[in-house]
Amino acid sequence: MLVDSHCHLNFKAYKDDLSEVIGRCHQADMKLINVGAAFDTSLKAVELTSEKNFYASIGLHPIHVFDEEFDVAKYQELINNNQKIIAIGETGFDYWHMTPQEGKAKQQEVFEAHIKLAQKNNLPLIIHGRNGKDHPTAYQDIYNLLKQNQANKGVVHCYGGNLEEAKKFVELGFHLGFTGIITFQKAEELQAIAKWIPFDKMLIETDAPYLSPEPHRGDRNEPAYVKYVAQTIAKLRNMLEEDVVEITGQNAIELFNLK
Ligand SMILES: [Zn+2]
Repeated sequence: MLVDSHCHLNFKAYKDDLSEVIGRCHQADMKLINVGAAFDTSLKAVELTSEKNFYASIGLHPIHVFDEEFDVAKYQELINNNQKIIAIGETGFDYWHMTPQEGKAKQQEVFEAHIKLAQKNNLPLIIHGRNGKDHPTAYQDIYNLLKQNQANKGVVHCYGGNLEEAKKFVELGFHLGFTGIITFQKAEELQAIAKWIPFDKMLIETDAPYLSPEPHRGDRNEPAYVKYVAQTIAKLRNMLEEDVVEITGQNAIELFNLK
């Protein structure tokens, strides 16, 4: 089954035509996970679980750690009241929007609180990493923190590290998420990682509204476009698109226990 393991229909980009976009998701007969980036968008992701085949992840994105407190009790209450909250995040390290000097200590404090919340509820993590121009250490720092905290379940979404780092995440038990970036011609390193990765650790995602794949590059993205990610992976690995859809879908269903 087609599964978009990471999207944001809970974001403002869809405020004018959300019902049409949702309709196209249902038409594609797919499952999807709306991912929260702050408390309000987490709440909206949870609201959207009233739709068939829509699931939610809740958390405070590393670029928002100075905008609000990560109030664990409020998130725990959401989990207690909704069976379709299937992951914690997105959380992690982002050195693009702030340098490690500016943000790392606070991001780490919030990231660790997410890891503990996930472990307490036996939920997988959805992890965001982004290197800065002069700070290519986000993925190393993520790896170290996960290992220190004995975290072993989740996805490093929109994977943007190198192959060596990818191997370490997979060794730790993590999945990697591939977005529309893989459809871009310049994405050679990412394509090499998609060829290497053991198939049971691969997820596909859109990160909509961002990162629209070819042939929609530059437009607003939406979950149904995740099929272009599957198409590209099928070409890279010399297999059928329907098999990529089936295997990555099954991986997401198992990792996130999607019912
Ligand atoms: Zn995202």
